[in-house]
Amino acid sequence: MKTELRLYNTLSRKKETFKPLFDDYTGLYTCGPTVYNYAHIGNLRTYLFEDILKRVLRFNGFNVSHVMNITDVGHLTGDRDMGEDKLEKGAAREGKSAWEIAEFYADAFKKDLKELNIQEPDIWCKATDSIKEQIELIQVLEKKGYTYQINDGIYFDTTKFSDYTKLSHQNLAELQEGARVEKNIEKKNPTDFALWKFSPENEQRQMEWESPWGTGFPGWHIECSAMSMMHLKDHLDIHCGGIDHIDVHHTNEIAQSEAATGEPFFHFWMHGAFLNITGGKKMAKSSGNFLTVSSTFTDQNISPLVYRFASLQTHYRKPMEYSDDALKSAENGYRHLKNQFRVIAEQTNGAEADVNIAFKNKFTAAVNDDLNMPRAMAVIQEVLKSDLSDAEKYATILDFDKVTGLCLETVADKDEIPAQIQGKMDARIQARADKDWAMSDQLRDEIEALGYMVQDSKEGMKVIKK
Ligand code: AMP
Ligand code: ZN
Repeated sequence: MKTELRLYNTLSRKKETFKPLFDDYTGLYTCGPTVYNYAHIGNLRTYLFEDILKRVLRFNGFNVSHVMNITDVGHLTGDRDMGEDKLEKGAAREGKSAWEIAEFYADAFKKDLKELNIQEPDIWCKATDSIKEQIELIQVLEKKGYTYQINDGIYFDTTKFSDYTKLSHQNLAELQEGARVEKNIEKKNPTDFALWKFSPENEQRQMEWESPWGTGFPGWHIECSAMSMMHLKDHLDIHCGGIDHIDVHHTNEIAQSEAATGEPFFHFWMHGAFLNITGGKKMAKSSGNFLTVSSTFTDQNISPLVYRFASLQTHYRKPMEYSDDALKSAENGYRHLKNQFRVIAEQTNGAEADVNIAFKNKFTAAVNDDLNMPRAMAVIQEVLKSDLSDAEKYATILDFDKVTGLCLETVADKDEIPAQIQGKMDARIQARADKDWAMSDQLRDEIEALGYMVQDSKEGMKVIKK
């Protein structure tokens, strides 16, 4: 029996049965990267969780339209509208223009997604491409009396929106206290936030636009309200981000959107927990101290899919610990799964079979229980150990891989490379990661003695028939 899809909704703090507002498609909006530096693997944990969500929605037959923004202006170094624009700061750091920085890091981000087999959104949108829509939204808020002007910009008065804490579930006094950290004495309330910031008087910003209030740039939160409404219309189903977005960014998005339209903004809000580095090292894009896909994986000849595999072992609402040991264990786990799958693929001898329904139901029950991927991964192991035929195992696991996205099909497709050779290749990759050069050379000789050749290249290691 097919289970309903239940998702944890931060708004209600409960798991709820998911049903889109309209039957034709499900609107999914995920807050995208601020493109002033590479994404770190913590950021990418959030994008991996969102990718699983989208795949699970599609696995359930929902027709998803996914929008992701690219923040290329307006995100200041302090979340409460103080400090420098991250893009202009990045530009100064690298001696390039803010526009060049944005393009460079947006491309790098898309490459990271590809490396992790994260499906791209249906619609990409840049904040700088929707300035007009953001201004129009601010004008609506102004007309309705939610805004006020101070020296450095136009602000949203959070006390005018009665349900301001409905997402954060904090009491307002607590929130005001938390917001007091970055003081802007002209603001009426600490939680009030900028809708439009004025360019500094004696300085020309690289990114600035004319507006009814003066030259400047949009506040960070308004872009996501404007772009989600612009691209998803009234299909405002699920909005996601990391947990750090609950108290400020998403709370402000809800306040300004609902104040402007008088209608509920998204009905499902989902948030991924953080990746933490064991030993307390904090990863921060702003300090430049962080792990990227290339520094952690590709440069070390480790497949970035190891990280995808690792992220499936922890539920998205639980903090995930990163350490060298955790990486090693994920590497071994992924290699083992690939080997198990490869053996099955070889043993099918071309036979075809249907997906096993009993296991599919079990797998679906796991992923539909608020994306319980650790349980879903355990179902894959059950299939492997079961007495199903190899062809049935193959078809069933490949079907599940539409959700897990571990590229198992390509593993099986490593045409004509026998499992024995592939096993030696995998061991060699491990030996090199361990800097065990003697073992690496020995494995190369063994592979060559069996009639294959190892090619080392920048893209990684490949084996071909001699
Ligand atoms: P940013 O590019 O800084 O706007 O962040 C992009 C996304 O990464 C946001 O959804 C953040 O909530 C999320 N994020 C930031 N740090 C982490 C972390 N350590 N673990 C998981 N997600 C994170
Ligand atoms: Zn956003």
